[in-house]
Amino acid sequence: MTYQVMPKVELHTHLEGCAPPSFIRGLAKEKSVDISGVFNADGSYSYRDFDHFLTVYEAACTTLQGPQDFYRLVKAVLEESASHGVVYQETFLSPDFCGGGDVEAWRDYLAAMETAAAEAEAEFDITLKGIVTAIRHFGPDAAKPAALCAAETFGDFITGFGMAGGELAGRPGDFAYAFDMAREARMPLTCHAGEWGGPDMVADTLRDLKVQRIGHGINAVRDPALVDQLAEAGTVLEVCPGSNVFLKASGGWDQHPIKTLRDAGVKVTVSTDDPPFFGTTMTHEFNMLSQTFGWEEADFKDLNQTALNAAFCDAETHTKIAKRLEA
Ligand SMILES: [Zn+2]
Repeated sequence: MTYQVMPKVELHTHLEGCAPPSFIRGLAKEKSVDISGVFNADGSYSYRDFDHFLTVYEAACTTLQGPQDFYRLVKAVLEESASHGVVYQETFLSPDFCGGGDVEAWRDYLAAMETAAAEAEAEFDITLKGIVTAIRHFGPDAAKPAALCAAETFGDFITGFGMAGGELAGRPGDFAYAFDMAREARMPLTCHAGEWGGPDMVADTLRDLKVQRIGHGINAVRDPALVDQLAEAGTVLEVCPGSNVFLKASGGWDQHPIKTLRDAGVKVTVSTDDPPFFGTTMTHEFNMLSQTFGWEEADFKDLNQTALNAAFCDAETHTKIAKRLEA
């Protein structure tokens, strides 16, 4: 059985990281941008390890030069996601790549992306919501304008605030100012932790940034007391197994902690992170989880429901997506 057509809810993607390689190559050619080193000879994204991945990611982003490029990117990404049954997707959007953290420039990019999302919803039957994201390795001072962009545009399309990038840059508490600003605007919060950092990074993120969801969080499995704490608090982990296996944050599918965490009562969800960079799709994730752990349709329905319950969207969207999951 393949899970391609099954409706899916995905909470953890990075918009630029979802860019099909052919889309980036097309833009580079149009704009005469030098992207040598970004691709392998077979046309796939080329990098050695996680730090080099961040460099290649940022190099690919140099082809995205204005709101119109992000409009086209959103359309291309959602067409691809919808072809794998995704009916609801949340994606991280970085003001750093969209106007350099300036609120007025950010509004222009956002308007273009929102238009694209509305058109894609009509064409491909998929709903997209955005989470404004600070880039951790750009430092705490760059996180503040990102949080301001988030707070100023929080609404129907922008539904939360979070942080991505190099997890080992600084400690969570260094970014408390930005997260406090977003929380004061009543935004739901998420932050990458426990992908490369240990259980202490997850614990400090929960304590200092008071997030509802953790991006990845898989290394929490090394501390049984923390696992109990996550289960008790109902903290949702945005787990990206294919990404973890590809980048070697996990030793392999059969060693991936998602099953142990789920069996311990932690609320886990499944996402692709940066699918073309990591050779994955939501279909591939479900197929591999099924092959590795024997999970069946009922398990995936349960994972979808957990993801929808943890989605940052409004009640009306929740109801609409719940109906699509039932169908
Ligand atoms: Zn991520």
